[in-house]
Amino acid sequence: MSIEHQPAQAGDGGNSSSARPAAKSCGDCTLCCTVLAVRDLNKPAGRACDHIAKGGGCNIYADRPGSCRAFQCFWTISDVLDEAWKPSRSGLMLWSNIEGRLIVEVDPQRPGAWREEPYLSQLQAWADRSKPLHLEVLIRIDGFLMVLFPEGALDLGPSQDDLAVDSGYLLKDGVSVPYARYVEPASTTP
Ligand code: SF4
Ligand code: SF4
Repeated sequence: MSIEHQPAQAGDGGNSSSARPAAKSCGDCTLCCTVLAVRDLNKPAGRACDHIAKGGGCNIYADRPGSCRAFQCFWTISDVLDEAWKPSRSGLMLWSNIEGRLIVEVDPQRPGAWREEPYLSQLQAWADRSKPLHLEVLIRIDGFLMVLFPEGALDLGPSQDDLAVDSGYLLKDGVSVPYARYVEPASTTP
């Protein structure tokens, strides 16, 4: 699964930008500058960017890569996510690369943040596939990926950028059980 497509690379490092229609300012948050890769800088996912400014913001703001300029995490643009969901406070950075999918990048310094409340209950509610507006909720912690269901999280192991994720429910002995797996990008049939 690739989660580094444009504009899904690290954001504007705590600054606001005229190119960003966001209602919320990043302030002191720089979580996307740690959890996401920045190919233009050869910065891997999960490592703090060398250009993060002390106290928040970007030391090369005027010259930051285009991917940084383009990225917006969901907290900055969603009315549904209040201050409790600010990435620097929650330890969770929410974004997506595919419609119907929610990717939750967890602060590697706080790997259990996604299990805390009110976050876990809300994430599981979004992951409830019996609901018409459900999402496929992926949780990535320090390069390891899980798929969240109301029944629990299924571990997929190391994040595989060249593979797609397929998840859903299968009938097993007459019982519907969740599954998650990596597949070649064209394959989605269990
Ligand atoms: S260059 Fe700036 S905006 Fe881009 S990841 Fe680094 S600190 Fe963040
Ligand atoms: S994670 Fe979101 S709020 Fe934090 S710096 Fe990036 S875009 Fe701004």
